[in-house]
Amino acid sequence: MLHLAFDDTDSLKGMCTTFLATEMIREFSDLDLIGYPRLVRLNPNVPWKTRGNGALCLRLGRGVGGKFKVGELEGRDIFAWTGSKDHPPPEEILPRAAAVLEKWAEIEDVLTNPAVAVFDCKPPPSMYWKAVRDIVPIAEAREAAKMAGAFRAYKNGRGIVGCVAAAAWRPQDRTYEILTYRQRARWGTERDIDSESVIEMDGRFPETFNNYDTLNRKVTIAPRSSCPILFGIRAERPDRLERAMRTIRSETPDRWFIFETNQGTDEHLVKAGKSVKRHTSVILRGLVAGPPTVHLGGHVIFPLNSGGRIDCAAYEPSKQFRRVARALMAGDEVVVCGSVRDEPKTINVEKIRVVKLVESKVKVANPSCPSCGKRMKSIGRGAGFRCLACRTKAPATAGVWKRTERQLKIGWYEPPVSARRHISMPLKRLGLKENAYPSK
Ligand SMILES: [Zn+2]
Repeated sequence: MLHLAFDDTDSLKGMCTTFLATEMIREFSDLDLIGYPRLVRLNPNVPWKTRGNGALCLRLGRGVGGKFKVGELEGRDIFAWTGSKDHPPPEEILPRAAAVLEKWAEIEDVLTNPAVAVFDCKPPPSMYWKAVRDIVPIAEAREAAKMAGAFRAYKNGRGIVGCVAAAAWRPQDRTYEILTYRQRARWGTERDIDSESVIEMDGRFPETFNNYDTLNRKVTIAPRSSCPILFGIRAERPDRLERAMRTIRSETPDRWFIFETNQGTDEHLVKAGKSVKRHTSVILRGLVAGPPTVHLGGHVIFPLNSGGRIDCAAYEPSKQFRRVARALMAGDEVVVCGSVRDEPKTINVEKIRVVKLVESKVKVANPSCPSCGKRMKSIGRGAGFRCLACRTKAPATAGVWKRTERQLKIGWYEPPVSARRHISMPLKRLGLKENAYPSK
């Protein structure tokens, strides 16, 4: 089969590379789709990403084996096949694909550097892993693309990185997303989606995830940008997504497709060694090295000792998740998952596991003097006590302490639904129960 991949066609103003995928499917109706269209999320920490940093790959050929429905376009059901018997040469497909891209991509936007590729040979899996976890130099991606087939890269050519990575993906873990698109006349206007129907769908289809943020009362299936997407429902399996979609009361979608994706897989995370590399995302285990501090803008930062010492941050957009960071104490053992921010080097926490909690005690009274019975005075933090009457000394441990209840429990915490990244694995997928946030 052929791998038709494209990337970096959107801008902050509008468009969406997944919409371009639906236009590619329309253009190539003389060929068959093989398998689901693929939406592959790449390193969320690349400094130049437009929005979600997702690349697309359609597999095309002449279908054999079984066929299954993957979407609807212009009132027609669109099917994909499980296998392919042959395909036209990439050189024949590329000019047609490039014409579709040139029609729709936001090529004028300074941040947009599109590319389209048609491969008849799959790039090596390492290209996917490097693009999801690190930075792939454009020259390296061009070399891999040349080996794999034909491509066209525009402007600085960065889009070729996503093309190669999306075509190189061999799913181990995977999820699905059904994406619905708005009628053209509605683009840029406010979306009409009944939030009650989203809450009901969330309850009726437990295999779906990240639909609704109960804490912040926000529908999270719809993007906030002015792109052509109406809404998208993410799920563990594709089989009931069409049914789930039909329970949403909204403006009538123009078209819809089910995509196979690496969303919610945590494939961007790597166990960090002694040093943490910038623009990567890491898993760090260590001890909280000091009390958390609250910074201007509401960000909460705590130092972590995991071989080296590094600051970890729960930024303002993570909302209630900041309470978790604020409730940590020096000595707590945690596992932190997050992306490495450069200047100053900080981990932007995406998820945290509390492994061990230190005891929290408050001093309720000074001890009474063992010689004369009078109440003793503190001589400084951790320095103990002295009797003002007879000058007898007592150690700090002589004070009367009361154990207080910790605001945290052992286990996992994650940001509310609206503050999660596409690629981060929600605890629901891990089969873990999320702890409730501390109350304040
Ligand atoms: Zn005394």
